[in-house]
Amino acid sequence: MASGVVLRGRGVSAGRGAAGVVHLAPSVPEPPAEVSIAPAARDAEAKSIARAAAAVATRLGERSAAATGEAAAILSAARLLAADPELIADAVRRVEDDGASAARAVWDAAGAQESGLSALGGRMAERAADVRDVRDRIVAELLGLDMPGIPERESPFVLVAVDLSPADTAALEGSRCVALVTEQGGPTSHTAIIARSLGLPAVVGVVGATGIPDGMTVLVDGDRGVVETDPAEASIRAATVTADAAFDGRGILADGVAVPLLANVGGAADAVTAADAGAEGIGLFRTEFCFLDRTDAPTVEEQVAAYRGVLAPFAGRKVVVRTLDAGSDKPLPFANPDHEQNPALGVRGLRIARRDPALLDDQLRALALAARAESAQVEVMAPMVATVEEARDFADRCRAAGLARAGIMIETPSAALLAAELFEVVDFVSLGTNDLAQYTMAADRMLSELGDLNDPWQPAVLRLIGMVGAAGTAAGRPVGVCGEAGGDPALAPVLIGLGATSLSMTSRSLGRVATALAGLTAQDCRRAAGAALAASTADEARAAATAAIDRA
Ligand code: PEP
Ligand code: MG
Repeated sequence: MASGVVLRGRGVSAGRGAAGVVHLAPSVPEPPAEVSIAPAARDAEAKSIARAAAAVATRLGERSAAATGEAAAILSAARLLAADPELIADAVRRVEDDGASAARAVWDAAGAQESGLSALGGRMAERAADVRDVRDRIVAELLGLDMPGIPERESPFVLVAVDLSPADTAALEGSRCVALVTEQGGPTSHTAIIARSLGLPAVVGVVGATGIPDGMTVLVDGDRGVVETDPAEASIRAATVTADAAFDGRGILADGVAVPLLANVGGAADAVTAADAGAEGIGLFRTEFCFLDRTDAPTVEEQVAAYRGVLAPFAGRKVVVRTLDAGSDKPLPFANPDHEQNPALGVRGLRIARRDPALLDDQLRALALAARAESAQVEVMAPMVATVEEARDFADRCRAAGLARAGIMIETPSAALLAAELFEVVDFVSLGTNDLAQYTMAADRMLSELGDLNDPWQPAVLRLIGMVGAAGTAAGRPVGVCGEAGGDPALAPVLIGLGATSLSMTSRSLGRVATALAGLTAQDCRRAAGAALAASTADEARAAATAAIDRA
């Protein structure tokens, strides 16, 4: 690809970053079984196995030493697996006796271990995935391939991929990645959400991105949605990550009306970051993010430990925990075992409790135990609610588990239209504008091509938000916003004007949103909301609200 080529996509995480391109390593191909090593060459071939396994184990050990907490423990366990003498001996035997290539021998030896573990089920079966990971690493080492997954690099790099799984994206924390570019993915995809929470500039939907050669320097502009190849030296120097405005810990309008600004988190590390950033509480704890790599359901004890890690930094403050929102783009193997034709419309979120009520009840029990052990004010809400019966049943289960405050997310048009009735059975609601836009506009939030439809400024979405706000005001109940819209400084005043009583966002957006609200009164927000509601297109809504705010 030539220098100075500008590729366009959708900026989904602000800031700029420049570095050489590294591609997400493809999965390791299965080594051919037909290769037969000549008897005279088998000894040398077999010796290469121990060498490769030792190199992999050493590298995992180094990474483990440099990591902390759970990541360190996972890497250390992987190091032990890579150095497993049984695995190596089995592979060596396959070379010496059968003439298999070293790579094929490791593949088959690991395969035998893996099926043994899978047959045992439960926690042991989960280790099968670890064996596969180590197998891929040793095979990659033998064949001189890039290690699978997020590449390990000593110097900064821009990661380019067709798309990333949430688990891949989460693994970026602590890596040398300075920006992300993907060919697929939408603005509210979980990849985009995690990129924002990590503060990594990201552009998605960049057609042709995977054609950029490895090592070519690119400048990624997450604000403008642009990727430039081989940019001028001066542009690279200027490519510093956008500074985030500081937050003083209080969301307040110019007339003194308090608008609590809360954080969206996916686990304990995020919660610590959120507390450090001054978040007034947590408005959305995506519990499924704690268990993305699990193949069996976490025990109640494991869940209590994970939840306490999030509650602890928010002693005395509100933490809204969302029950598992598994499915669609965040499938959890233990909760979504079936292939679905249409997973966004399938058995996801609260609907999983239809099949497996114990999974929900165990989670609620774990949350009640965690709440009792910590002093945060725990509130619990369910994702993907469409009917009043679902909301009532959820609230009943919460109360039976000993959780006093139960709410629901408003993510379906049905829930928005039924908001008044829903307030009769739950204590609060939180608008999940990402899904509300997806379902209102019938536009897959993962498709960057439909990003213009997946826009909370769409009048139909704004009007549904307005209905929920009005129902909340009439019922005297809180209406939070925890979708990405809540962290958009231009939209925040409109949401408040539409009746939202708190906003929850990635910690990095707190300062920007606080600044946008500080100069406006509640009356200004209502005027901006009225102007947006009267518009007939998303562009007009945005322009009308901005004009109303500029006049304030
Ligand atoms: C939403 O849909 O707006 C939301 C906050 O939930 P998630 O993004 O996790 O689906
Ligand atoms: Mg959602």
